Amino acid sequence: MAAISVIPGDGIGPEVVESALGLVDAFGLGLDVDVLDHVGAERYRREGVALGEADLARVAASGAVLLGAIGRPDLEHTGYVRDVLLELRYAFDLYANYRPVRLWHDRLSPLRDPARRALDCVIVRENTEGLYSGIGGNLRASSDHEVAVDADVNTRHGVSRILDFAFATARREVCLVDKANAVRAGGRLWQECWRRAAERHPDTATRHLYVDAAAMKLVTEPERFDVIVASNSHGDILSDLAAALAGGIGLAPSASLNPESGFGMFEPVHGSAPDIAGRGVANPFACLLTAALLLRHLGHDTEAAATEAAVAGSIAAGRTTPDLGGTLSTREATRAVLAAL
Ligand code: ATP
Repeated sequence: MAAISVIPGDGIGPEVVESALGLVDAFGLGLDVDVLDHVGAERYRREGVALGEADLARVAASGAVLLGAIGRPDLEHTGYVRDVLLELRYAFDLYANYRPVRLWHDRLSPLRDPARRALDCVIVRENTEGLYSGIGGNLRASSDHEVAVDADVNTRHGVSRILDFAFATARREVCLVDKANAVRAGGRLWQECWRRAAERHPDTATRHLYVDAAAMKLVTEPERFDVIVASNSHGDILSDLAAALAGGIGLAPSASLNPESGFGMFEPVHGSAPDIAGRGVANPFACLLTAALLLRHLGHDTEAAATEAAVAGSIAAGRTTPDLGGTLSTREATRAVLAAL
């Protein structure tokens, strides 16, 4: 059984995954890696399938999967991205999306007030329900009376388990973010599950914010947050906002986990970035920080912490790709991190 299966994917995916695999290799842990480099847009265009049964079996035979990026502009209006990402998410029931956000260097913050810049929180996003569940449709399409409905799906089981995961992740506080004052049925369910989850975890402080207030407070008091838990769509939006406060999506790692089975899919938050793909300038740090999450998940805490310190050191030394103000290529920035280990 391979320790890690790898789907480099499309666009800058293979470029940043090369960096992450270089990092894993540098630690000499003897981890067996199974690379599925045929999974991607090219195969989907040719065969109408990107991720087959045999691929899923290979992923299932590993301890975790590292994914670069999935997406290509000419396939935007097909089922391609959903086919791959949702297939993996549902096959392994990866309901807990874990997005740590940390300001690695003061100069990367867009905030003017130095006292407000520190950010070290985790956004826990529900990954299998909510507004992105794909249930809905259009009635009387293309007519003046067209009706478009997207269902916001929330189940007691799904809400309870993501709240429990958030409490298990917290160091001091969990902040529930919702819009229960306007979205009543789902809001009531989340609120009721929230009260019960808080009772199950009496040692953790709790806070509740409506999503509009949370967006404001992330900018005005970012340092106050520890764990934020939210539905799929709210978590999606807040995590990009938080990533922007910490230097941009070129630095944002994520993991989609099933805490019960222990299986996880690890991917940088950014997409395939077709505008810079193939130019060798993609920032590899999000993928290196994602590899750090993966190493920690596999029990290699020392190597994970060393990776984070080396990325922070490279940023401090200005040894970065252009998106962070440096002049290095993807490979040069990777070498800077490896040299700092
Ligand atoms: P997709 O549809 O695959 O999500 P996208 O281009 O819509 O692709 P992203 O890939 O997240 O979305 O890119 C958004 C912007 O951020 C682009 O301008 C891209 O060049 C930039 N970007 C994303 N990732 C990186 C990176 N690792 N390094 C530098 N710039 C990046």
